[in-house]
Amino acid sequence: YAENAEKRVMNNQLKKMTVKEYQSIPVVAKESSSVYDAIVTMFLEDVGTLFVVKENSILTGILSRKDLLRASMGKQDLSSIPVNVIMTRMPNVTMCEQDDMLIEVANTLIQKQIDGLPVVKKIQQNGEEQYEVIGRMTKTNITKAFVDLGDEHQRS
Ligand code: ADP
Repeated sequence: YAENAEKRVMNNQLKKMTVKEYQSIPVVAKESSSVYDAIVTMFLEDVGTLFVVKENSILTGILSRKDLLRASMGKQDLSSIPVNVIMTRMPNVTMCEQDDMLIEVANTLIQKQIDGLPVVKKIQQNGEEQYEVIGRMTKTNITKAFVDLGDEHQRS
């Protein structure tokens, strides 16, 4: 019984953990940025994923380390290739919202085999649904939550 109760407590705590409390600040690149600039940004900001945006932080695509590595294998001049020709573009970008449960995000990351997701806010612009980038959720954020869950569990 005690074991079941313990599991219930863990489960409840898990369900209370949402993106809002664990998200990081998003790191973005403009659509017109070059692959070279994106690589520099990735190093300077120490992230593994960049979100590509147009004006007003509207999401248009996403860039991973391997996307940039792949683009670097050719002999082209990296400062003349715009990121928007190599990125994974909308509507193929998987996103999450602030009120989503962390456990859902963790599931998505595993299922899609990706490292991170943009946290977005839906907005209407020119009669179209658009997504404003407001945060970043990665495996590191999930790991942090996992540690918190363990700490809380020990205290209770
Ligand atoms: P890496 O390519 O460095 O291993 P990922 O596993 O995160 O990093 O990315 C794998 C591929 O999936 C890349 O081509 C990337 O553009 C794409 N990708 C990454 N994150 C997302 C996402 N949230 N939605 C859709 N595609 C993504």
